Amino acid sequence: MDIKNPTTKDNRRIIRQLSDAAANRIAAGEVVERPSSAIKELVENSIDAGASRIDISYSDGGKTLIRVKDNGHGIAENQLMLALSRHATSKIDGTDLLNIHTFGFRGEALPSMGAVGRLTITSRIENVSMGATITVDGGVIHQVRPAPSSIGTIVELRNLFHATPARLKFLRTDRAESGAISDVIKRLAMSEPFIGFTLRDITSGGKGRIIFRADPEAGDLFDAMYGRLSKILGIDFAKNSFRVDAERDGMTLTGYASLPTYSRGSSVSQYIFVNGRPVKDKSLLSALRAAYSDFLHNGRYPLAALFVECDFERVDVNVHPAKAEVRFREPGIVRGLVISALRHALAEEGHRASSTVADATLGAFKKSEISNISTNLRMNQSWSREMQNNNLDQVGFSELQNNFSARQASIETNNDQISNRLGAARAQVHENYIISQTADGIVIVDQHAAHERLVYEKLKNKMALNGVSSQTLLIPEIIELSEQDSAVLMDLSADLSRFGLSIENFGGNSIVVRETPAILGEVNAKSLILDILDELKDWSESNLIKEKLDAILSRVACHGSIRSGRIMKGEEMNALLREMEITPHSGQCNHGRPTYVKLKLSDIEKLFGRT
Ligand code: ADP
Ligand code: MG
Repeated sequence: MDIKNPTTKDNRRIIRQLSDAAANRIAAGEVVERPSSAIKELVENSIDAGASRIDISYSDGGKTLIRVKDNGHGIAENQLMLALSRHATSKIDGTDLLNIHTFGFRGEALPSMGAVGRLTITSRIENVSMGATITVDGGVIHQVRPAPSSIGTIVELRNLFHATPARLKFLRTDRAESGAISDVIKRLAMSEPFIGFTLRDITSGGKGRIIFRADPEAGDLFDAMYGRLSKILGIDFAKNSFRVDAERDGMTLTGYASLPTYSRGSSVSQYIFVNGRPVKDKSLLSALRAAYSDFLHNGRYPLAALFVECDFERVDVNVHPAKAEVRFREPGIVRGLVISALRHALAEEGHRASSTVADATLGAFKKSEISNISTNLRMNQSWSREMQNNNLDQVGFSELQNNFSARQASIETNNDQISNRLGAARAQVHENYIISQTADGIVIVDQHAAHERLVYEKLKNKMALNGVSSQTLLIPEIIELSEQDSAVLMDLSADLSRFGLSIENFGGNSIVVRETPAILGEVNAKSLILDILDELKDWSESNLIKEKLDAILSRVACHGSIRSGRIMKGEEMNALLREMEITPHSGQCNHGRPTYVKLKLSDIEKLFGRT
């Protein structure tokens, strides 16, 4: 029997104690999956050491070199060897695994890195004149030696995975690894706004290229958080987000989340922290999605940085080797907290359309102004020529009448309405936009989008009270569908009838629509049904019937709203504006687009160079 070769079949029955080096290499597979996870562990150690400045540099996507320097409390010379051995930590004594206030506690990171690369720690504590350094290379520990150093710690990790070449193959391109590193640093920087961070790519030598830099923030926690988030997520996020500050059963939720009009096509900008720890928690992310389900459909995602804080005993952080996941003792409470806090804040912020919309509008004006300068110059020249020949007044006036299809509303003067938030309707243009005058500017309302929102909110209210009343079609509409579509609809028929939409099977794959929601008035039943089916396809992976029904309701609302193209009377426009003012969430349509844009007089004056 070949004892030396443990992989032969006969030998698999012999149980061996693995060497420390082998155990560390195995642990490394979980703790340091790639350069960014090594950086995460090192920066977390610096934070745990009370550092106020952390400088991170790397080469070749972190594959050849990672260096983390901090000004924390350092490691004493006689502790350096211990720091490198497995399950050695200064952060817990092992008696209470639920009461953990530090990022680290497993005592695995440093030995794991030392097992799969060349790790050097140089450190100095207070009140000693000289620092010390230790190196471990592929699991082999070298002697501790004195080394000059300022107070704090520098950890250098070279040639990650050179001791385990198989792992090297799983690394992605330098660019992808660098991206993952930035992401890790940004998440940690968000959770620690009072600490200063710099991240440098030093691949090409020298001081390298600064990838990210955030100076320590000042002020109270909310100020600091706001400053740090504007730095990381951008000033547009800061301008288009609202503050969240809620508490439920002893759990708190703070942070910032974006207005529905400021969304992304993916969930990359959603950051969640539990007791300061960045986590990727599926149930919290799904709670975030649920909170916005009324506003964002079709693959749009809010941006958010949300911080959950609770008693340390109520959340288990020891369920994932890289500590990226946590487990709550009462998952229902935290989910409820996220949904209710965001919904509540959204209701309060519902009237605010995204400021980027107004900015973009102004930007567009300015751009077209520039690109039109030459045209205008030419036009002015020809106009001035014409002026010599004709009467300018005549020309200008008829041009206006022909080209500008503004429809002046036949409104008695309604100056008393100006003081309202959305002002007094002045005109309807291009048969869809209401222009109104406010105390300090103008508002442009998309009548279709706005009305769609109002109908939706009404439908939801009615549904909650006692269901939506229906009207019977004089001639029931028979619709031929695919087998799958008809099955999907028939499954939901009981719920649809609560919407006032009654359908029955009509043999084969046909259905017959007998009643439609009364609020919609006369409606094309077939296009309504097809729209509902489309909406259901978008939500096919959702198991939550409530989300599905809300989505359907919003489609239904679309059918009942004033179409663009309908000419509105002055009173009708003002009535719409007044209703928008009192309806929650009326700042955006059911798809997260703004329903109105507000331009301040001062902005308009800027456009004309008056300021
Ligand atoms: P853990 O963080 O889980 O305790 P690590 O292997 O990451 O385990 O670190 C082992 C120990 O080394 C830590 O408990 C800490 O005492 C010490 N240490 C590591 N990095 C630093 C640092 N940057 N500053 C001060 N002490 C450190
Ligand atoms: Mg650690």
